Amino acid sequence: MISSTDYAEFVKRTYAYIHAQKDYITALDSATGDGDHWVNMDMGFERLTKQTDQFLSMPIDRVFQEMGKTMMAVIGGSSGVLYGSAYLAAARAVKGKDTLDVNSLCDALAAMLEAIISRGQSKEGFKTMIDSLAPAVKTYRQALAEHKSEKELCLAVKQAAIDGAENTKNMEAVRGRASYQENKGVGHLDPGAVTMSYQISIMMDYII
Ligand code: ADP
Ligand code: MG
Ligand code: MG
Repeated sequence: MISSTDYAEFVKRTYAYIHAQKDYITALDSATGDGDHWVNMDMGFERLTKQTDQFLSMPIDRVFQEMGKTMMAVIGGSSGVLYGSAYLAAARAVKGKDTLDVNSLCDALAAMLEAIISRGQSKEGFKTMIDSLAPAVKTYRQALAEHKSEKELCLAVKQAAIDGAENTKNMEAVRGRASYQENKGVGHLDPGAVTMSYQISIMMDYII
């Protein structure tokens, strides 16, 4: 079971982790973009940590709604709109639910993926955050269908997210600022895919 308390903890852990990766994430976005991806994500999660006390008294769908609104409002740039839309879509996908089980968490992640694809006019292989989230969702669905244990499922999903981010290195960017570069960012990881893999990893580690 994943409750609002768990999401509050997820937010705190993610903020701490992203906050510590300033130089690395800034370097990634400086190589292929405008260098602000760390600032954007750090600012968004810092604000979310200030809301975690409120989260505790909310059902999970409301938590997602608040997260979406905050990310949309606080995070500048593409990632604000994309994460904002993603969490609002997750809220709709689990509407009426107090807590999540392993199936409805998959529904929430799948809804986030669909929202990012549609908002960003993007898809897998375009060298974006989708390239971490999409394989994670696919692996998650497979693991559910195969009735894997929760631990096996979480480890597989985490690995898919990390491998997905790693695979962006050789991709040519079709969306995002890297697509404006002459070599389309080839040879560099996509910063948004890397921070997406952090979030998925932290969630999966937490569940285990
Ligand atoms: P900006 O590019 O506006 O400065 P950020 O630096 O915060 O915003 O975020 C950049 C990340 O957003 C990219 O690394 C990529 O993963 C993701 N991204 C950008 N555009 C899109 C898009 N159209 N679809 C999906 N993801 C995108
Ligand atoms: Mg940027
Ligand atoms: Mg920017």
